[in-house]
Amino acid sequence: MGEPDAALRDELKSRLDDVFRRIREACERAGRDPEDVQLVAVSKTHPVEMIRAAADAGCRVFGENYAQELRDKSRELGDAASIEWHFVGSIQRNKVKYLVGTAALLHAVDSEKVLMEVEKRAARQELDQQVLVEVNLASEVSKAGIDEEGLNALLMKFGSTPHVRCVGLMTMPPFWDDPERVRPYFRRLRALRDELGGKGYPNVELIHLSMGMTGDFEAAVEEGATIVRVGTAIFGPRG
Ligand SMILES: *Cc1c(COP(=O)(O)O)cnc(C)c1O
Repeated sequence: MGEPDAALRDELKSRLDDVFRRIREACERAGRDPEDVQLVAVSKTHPVEMIRAAADAGCRVFGENYAQELRDKSRELGDAASIEWHFVGSIQRNKVKYLVGTAALLHAVDSEKVLMEVEKRAARQELDQQVLVEVNLASEVSKAGIDEEGLNALLMKFGSTPHVRCVGLMTMPPFWDDPERVRPYFRRLRALRDELGGKGYPNVELIHLSMGMTGDFEAAVEEGATIVRVGTAIFGPRG
């Protein structure tokens, strides 16, 4: 692995420091411990050189949302940068093979079909795959994620997936300019976690709430996010 360009690293470091500071401040407002919020730097469409520079500047977890792009980047970077990959995109069944064993966490399992494919691939590799279930809280505007009505049934399915563990919930609220308009979705996801967390589904432990992006991660942290997925604020606009 070559030395990252110093100017690029400095720029990414200052953007990352800014994001970390904003997370800390949101935690302070909410009386939370910043240690309980993990930053996933969403590097989709950006070259591996930027990932190297961000890793060098103190970032450890990177998120991708195209399966082949994740595969190619993880191959290219290897283990050298001690990077942990998350897959944050919608999961197509025929792409699961690129994800299992490469991504430490799949954020967006949203159907039994995909879950069973993840189980099959994880069993074959003899590993435990951690996933989140993506919940669609705004079904009129978005198709990704499972509706609230289907959530209970999907969580029950983890009883037959010994190689897949659900460790929380994820949501992608509709895009508003105003973070205050997405806050109710964050609140709702947290309420769902609190409501379903005690139900004792096998292989399910609802620890994490993956919510909040560049435009709204502070509101998400205030509402209980344990994972925020931030791209643009770290890497700049996507081309
Ligand atoms: C692209 C993407 C993000 C990051 O979006 P930004 O607005 O650039 O922070 C977060 N989550 C998912 C699922 C994404 O696809």
